[in-house]
Amino acid sequence: MIPISKPFIGEEFTATCQVKHAVACTSGTVALHMALLAHGIGEGDEVITTPFSFIATANSILYVGAKPVFVDIDEQTFNLNPELVEAAITPRTKAIMPVHLYGHLCDMDLLMNIAKRHNLAIIEDAAQSVGSMYKGKVAGSFGTGCFSLYATKNVMSAEGGMLTTNDTKLANKLRLIRNHGMEKRYHHEFLGYNFRMTNVHAAIGVVQMGRLATFTEKRQRNAVYLNQHIQSVITPDIKNGNYNHVWHQYTVKVPETASFTRDGAVEQLREKGIGTGIFYPIPIHHHAYIKNIVGKQHFPVTEKLTKQVFSLPVHPQLTQKDLETIVKEVNDL
Ligand SMILES: *Cc1c(COP(=O)(O)O)cnc(C)c1O
Repeated sequence: MIPISKPFIGEEFTATCQVKHAVACTSGTVALHMALLAHGIGEGDEVITTPFSFIATANSILYVGAKPVFVDIDEQTFNLNPELVEAAITPRTKAIMPVHLYGHLCDMDLLMNIAKRHNLAIIEDAAQSVGSMYKGKVAGSFGTGCFSLYATKNVMSAEGGMLTTNDTKLANKLRLIRNHGMEKRYHHEFLGYNFRMTNVHAAIGVVQMGRLATFTEKRQRNAVYLNQHIQSVITPDIKNGNYNHVWHQYTVKVPETASFTRDGAVEQLREKGIGTGIFYPIPIHHHAYIKNIVGKQHFPVTEKLTKQVFSLPVHPQLTQKDLETIVKEVNDL
């Protein structure tokens, strides 16, 4: 059949993520919410995730009435520490929701192994990691992949989200959840939603996906340059073991021995015309409404890093002169 309208962004995602199915939706937050619904996760269930992420990760778990169970992160990758995951599993655990933060995949060998042994779903928050790889496998192809196409992400459609899976039954369920549980027109199988992406957003996303490879290479070159030249702060690493980092963020750490503070550095760089970001200044478990649910908790690595990190520009539009200015100003801190 010749389709009546073209922008079908799903094709771009099945190719990039090397999966059978891609289901478009309205945002990354909605993608996470839909993934939890499709896996049947709800009241009384627990989902293991990281306290060092954008709030949407934990919020999606709360939307379905489940409880986020946080475990601390690995200091090098900023991602879930797999060694702590297994200890957090209880009879109520239904899924692990790893976040591939800043464009660096989690240690998926270890996480997949734990999930398999305990019969848990893997819902990947890949909002920052489209195209990122670990041992030749792409983000979103390990479990149920959740992507954001928000304006600041590596590919964007202004607002938008995408789910990826190799499970045909799950993909069909996701499509029903997205459209009021409607298999046959005006026959509704269960309580569904309107989470449909518009064609206008899809059209933007399709064009952006065509540029992903070029954009990613540029980000990777920028990161290599910054890593080679920045000395005043701790530059980001790629973990050993065949990771391909897509550098959604280039995040440095202010050493504990530095003569300047993180907030001082950010302010000084702002005065020199260099934009920075802090992802994220408050650990998820420190927000009052989260604390009301999970209680007072302590995750030393996350809490330390939220005070140390800031992100520098790494995006594909940077010129060589921009990179040199960034290096000079950061080394002058
Ligand atoms: C952006 C982001 C989301 C949410 O995506 P939206 O499209 O903004 O709803 C979720 N998780 C992480 C890690 C993100 O960076």
